[in-house]
Amino acid sequence: MKPFQYHQAAGPREAVFAAAQNPGAMFLAGGTTLVDLMKIEVLTPDSIIGVNNLPLAEIEVGTETVRVGANVRNSQLAWHPFIREWFPVLSEALLSGATTQLRNMATVAGNIMQRTRCAYFRNVHTACNRRQPASGCDAISGFNRTHAVLGTSEHCIATHPSDMCVAMVMLDAQIHTLRPDGTTSSIPLAEFHKLPGDTPQIETVLERGELITHVTLPRLAMTRRSHYLKVRDRASYEFALASAAVALDLDGDVIRGARLAVGGIATKPWRCWESERILLGHRADGDAFRDAAEAALAGAIGRQHNQFKIELAKRTLVRALTTARELTV
Ligand code: SF4
Repeated sequence: MKPFQYHQAAGPREAVFAAAQNPGAMFLAGGTTLVDLMKIEVLTPDSIIGVNNLPLAEIEVGTETVRVGANVRNSQLAWHPFIREWFPVLSEALLSGATTQLRNMATVAGNIMQRTRCAYFRNVHTACNRRQPASGCDAISGFNRTHAVLGTSEHCIATHPSDMCVAMVMLDAQIHTLRPDGTTSSIPLAEFHKLPGDTPQIETVLERGELITHVTLPRLAMTRRSHYLKVRDRASYEFALASAAVALDLDGDVIRGARLAVGGIATKPWRCWESERILLGHRADGDAFRDAAEAALAGAIGRQHNQFKIELAKRTLVRALTTARELTV
């Protein structure tokens, strides 16, 4: 690991100010991604600003939104009684990720900011535009079984790894930040992560030194009928080959409202807006669910080893919707 300076921030304002002073600085919270990447020298920050102890670890249930602090642990959020009752999709998504030990350490903001698991990104001896701009992409012609089929570009096809973000983008989460100049901003999660385009090294809309302080989730009755389904090679400690986060608002067997997002197949947490429109007013049956799934994957581009993900993702969506329909709420 390359040597670095460590600064423990006393508060959020001091943290963003310190980051602004040092262009190479990175924030460290739970450390479950950053430390790994520093050990293999994929990331080599010369300065680390510790934010793990900042007072940003509360979950506050309000009348219109739920406010989740940036330092809330993944397990803390997953097991919160209100989250389990009102946002089961989020609890299920969190509990499907990583392991108990990692979930006890990883924070909500860290989950949002986690880096891709593309094996070429994590190997400094390969070409990777995301790690080293303009160096090429070995995944496109290499072993790309776990890579994305939605939102890709000729410069990067890396999958966004988060389960939590798939549920949160479906829930219309808002990311709240503090900037070095003391101003704050609120960004819809759907707009927070950037498509790779020709600058895959720029992954989010955050400015230098900007710190996530909390996330808000709007309270909606329909999210009680929600579900997260993750399909993967093994049952634990594995990333999704395809996943779906869904919520249904039913009037009898007619769909009054629907929300869908997919994961494991896209370069960012992927909301299925067109599928939601297609479902409105239809009977909640297999035909409607399949039509929605077809629309969700309409723009998918498969590569040599990941073509199977397109049909897998459609079936994952149909099964998640079927499960949500059967829930007793
Ligand atoms: Fe790098 Fe993206 Fe290509 Fe993976 S897919 S090697 S992250 S540029």
